[in-house]
Amino acid sequence: MKIHNFDGTIAAIATAVGESGIGIVRISGRDALAIADKIFVSSNGKKPSTFRTYTIHYGWIVENSKIEKPADFIDEVILTVMRSPKTFTREDVVEINCHGGIVALRKVLDLTLEHGCRLSQPGEFTKRAFLNGRIDLAQAEAVLDIIRAKTDSALKVGTEQLKGNLSRELNKIRNLLLDSLSLIEANIDFPEEQIIPADTKKLSGQLKAAGNGLMRILESANAGKVFREGISAVICGKPNVGKSSLLNALLKQERSIVTPVAGTTRDTIEEIIDIKGIPVRIVDTAGMVAPRGLIEEKAVQRSRKYIHAADLIIMVFDGNKQLEKQDRLLMGRLSGKTTIAVINKIDLKAKLPKQKITEKFERVVEVSAKKMKNINLLEEAIADLVYRGGIRSPEPVLVSKLRHIESIRKAQKLIAEAVDSVDNNNKLSQEFIAQDIKDALVYLDNILGKKFSEELLDKIFSEFCIGK
Ligand code: GDP
Repeated sequence: MKIHNFDGTIAAIATAVGESGIGIVRISGRDALAIADKIFVSSNGKKPSTFRTYTIHYGWIVENSKIEKPADFIDEVILTVMRSPKTFTREDVVEINCHGGIVALRKVLDLTLEHGCRLSQPGEFTKRAFLNGRIDLAQAEAVLDIIRAKTDSALKVGTEQLKGNLSRELNKIRNLLLDSLSLIEANIDFPEEQIIPADTKKLSGQLKAAGNGLMRILESANAGKVFREGISAVICGKPNVGKSSLLNALLKQERSIVTPVAGTTRDTIEEIIDIKGIPVRIVDTAGMVAPRGLIEEKAVQRSRKYIHAADLIIMVFDGNKQLEKQDRLLMGRLSGKTTIAVINKIDLKAKLPKQKITEKFERVVEVSAKKMKNINLLEEAIADLVYRGGIRSPEPVLVSKLRHIESIRKAQKLIAEAVDSVDNNNKLSQEFIAQDIKDALVYLDNILGKKFSEELLDKIFSEFCIGK
């Protein structure tokens, strides 16, 4: 195993900034232990460079560890030593658990810098883990998904990928392609430039298996996107039907303004709510119909834009009122969208003609936002509409990143072309088929990080926080 000799030993605060119980300063690189020796005094007087791997030690961070009994220490800490190569970066790693205040953490970090560390760049620890071969690029990117996960399902997409499920599938396909390539190359000296029939069959079978494998990964992509990015939903309806109350009921906390005066929710409010594992970005729109005054005009325009872009429309009706012109106008704008009608205020006398609504919407739910009644039914209706598109597949989601999806799609297209050429065995010479396979391999290698450009790495790791 080759451990790269990177530019310097890096250090960073690895935990979120702010007050907390503990905070961690993380160091990785050749000099990690030597630098720890200079700033750490352990309770038993031993030096970190003598500690065994995966052991933790109590002690103090001091300005200068050479002073035997320092009068002052910067922080009382727990220090962990992890020795190369069995660490996240595969380099020597030291983690210092400090008290969580930013001043203590900052001081400890500054000391590591004074003694020879360099401040890490965003994602540099993970980048080293990748460059040292501990994880492939798809797994490195999964780390980011895990950090950013907002729901259980999003977390699962990340952990599946970190486990290497996508990489394993891609590697299988890669092997099929490499085999296919060698079949062709074994034949390439034949004068007629044709593949011999027995091999044609085998070649075509292998390429089809590879193509099908890529298709299966792509099919899981849709679900991956939903879980990672969520869906956007718009709550609309004429003023005073209870849109803000409904959003509040969904949030189960008062975060948008609820008021008995019509049309005060001038602009839109957006919240992300976890509904049965799906992150739903909900937009509460202002008075959608009959704008009065300029500000509302603008708000209405914006609301229309939101309706146009939304994956799901939740239109709220006042169950205590007759259907009005404003309701009909708005209903007319929803054609072609996935819609749920919410008949609100069921705690009051029912006056709304329900059948007129039922036929226009995919789901109708009756609730009382104010009394928090039947809100679960609305949540179920939302989840049901999302899962209806085959998304409730028990298959693990293999791919969720646009970069991966695009590469797989391109590879799949190339393989389909190659299969076509092999099956028809006359259109293209073997060199062209071989070229298609080689190009497809490049796309797969890009995902796995077997081939990469500095530019791509910079782009991927710049999204990470410092310390990861
Ligand atoms: P919006 O203009 O559509 O956002 O409506 P609001 O959420 O501001 O609600 C308008 C009024 O209807 C407020 O006085 C709410 O308290 C009231 N309201 C909302 N939901 C219900 C409900 O389920 N039952 C009753 N009785 N009143 C409600």
